[in-house]
Order: sequence, then structure tokens, then C-alpha cells
Amino acid sequence: MRVCLLGAGGKVGALLAPALAAAGHEVLPLRRGESVDASGCDAAVDFTRPDAVEANVRVCLAQGVPCVIGTTGFDEAAVDAAARETGLPCFYAPNFAIGAVLMMRFAAEAAKHLPRAEIVEAHDERKLDAPSGTARATAAAMGTNPVIHSVRLPGLVAHQEVILGGPGQYLTIRHDTTSREAFVPGVLLALERLRNLPAGLTVGLDTLLG
Ligand code: NAP
Repeated sequence: MRVCLLGAGGKVGALLAPALAAAGHEVLPLRRGESVDASGCDAAVDFTRPDAVEANVRVCLAQGVPCVIGTTGFDEAAVDAAARETGLPCFYAPNFAIGAVLMMRFAAEAAKHLPRAEIVEAHDERKLDAPSGTARATAAAMGTNPVIHSVRLPGLVAHQEVILGGPGQYLTIRHDTTSREAFVPGVLLALERLRNLPAGLTVGLDTLLG
């Protein structure tokens, strides 16, 4: 596929560009300040900033290009509406690491039996949004309205603990992303499935994993 990569100069983008090329995709890297021209591409991938992603996606959709979104902290309803208007699919995963998706599944299952829970998410201090998209998605999947604590410190990548407590016991479900390489297989899977998704925004790697 010919893939326009928005945010190619960022921490994730810089790792993703060679990984997409190694998987056989032709990559058009775009950095901040460069005009968004994705015409002729089969898909766009956005790992930019919460305040940039919606405008980027709208431009890509207007050019007939479906999008895979990694950037967190944007208005999902607005992007869904824009994608439906153009009749194109968009896919967003709050977390492209497959282990994190399993953590969310396990937390949802555990919450059925231990409804009192809190979430502690910890990320690199440069992450702009809090709580993280993963923490909000985990809380929604659990359905028990757990309190979310956000930690932002240097030296961290992406980490989350779900702690469920009951009388005389507690259960901790933990996932650690130690390198941004963890996001590559999820992005490749999303690109592979994108064209077969319905118009509008599909959310969550879980929906692609079966
Ligand atoms: P980052 O290092 O700050 O990279 C973002 C890049 O986007 C920077 O190079 C920035 O340029 C560029 N940029 C800003 N506005 C842009 C625009 N309008 N068009 C094109 N490029 C633009 O951040 P990151 O760690 O790579 O993360 C990027 C986003 O992905 C964040 O929202 C983060 O939370 C999210 N993320 C999601 C996942 C997931 O699994 N869903 C995983 C990791 C990260 P400047 O440096 O010049 O501003």
C-alpha cells in the first residue's frame, strides 16, 4: 500500500516509517509544517498531536483517503461524522499494543466479579493528554466507573495497572510497553483491514483481533 504517514518526525512516527517500509508499504512521510497531501495514497496513518489530528483526518478524507489514527485525545464523534459523510472508513486504537488490548479484556472480565477498582496509568512526561486513551477505554470496558490516576514522568514509555479489590484480596492486572516497537504489529493489522471496515470511525484493536 502507499501510506501517508503524518507525524513522521515524532517518537512513534520515526520508528513506524522504516517498519512500514520493511513490511512492503510505500511510505510518504509528512512532518509538521508540510501541507497534507495524501492524494493517491491508499491510507493515511496519523501519530501527531491531539490538536492536529482532526484537521489532518478531514483533509485526508476529502482527498478520498481512509485513515488509521494513533493520536489520542481527539473528538471521536466529530471524526466519525466526517468519515460517514465521505463514506470512508477510519480506524482508531487508543493502544496499538496487543498486550494492552488483552489487559483491557482481562480487566473487563475481572470487573464482573470485583467491581471496586482503580486504574493507575503512567506515561512519559511529554504525553499531552491525561488520562490516557487506554485508561479511558479500559474504564469504559469495565463499566464500573473506576477512578483513574495519571502519572507523567521522564523515563517512562506507557504503563498501566488495573487494581481490583474485594474483602481480603486484591487483583492487579498490569501491562508495560517497554519500546514503541510494540505498536507496529497493531498498525500493520489496521492497515490490512482498513478497506473492509464500514464507513465511519471504528474504535479499538479488539474489534480486529476477533
Ligand atoms: P511526538 O513525539 O510528540 O510526535 C508527534 C509528531 O507530530 C511531532 O514530530 C510533531 O512535530 C508532529 N506534528 C505535530 N503537529 C503536526 C501536524 N499538524 N501535522 C503533522 N505532524 C505534526 O509524539 P509521539 O509519542 O510520537 O505520539 C504521537 C501521538 O500518538 C500522541 O497523541 C500519543 O499519545 C499517541 N500515541 C498513541 C499510541 C497508540 O497506541 N494509540 C501509542 C503511542 C503514542 P513537532 O515536534 O514539530 O511538534
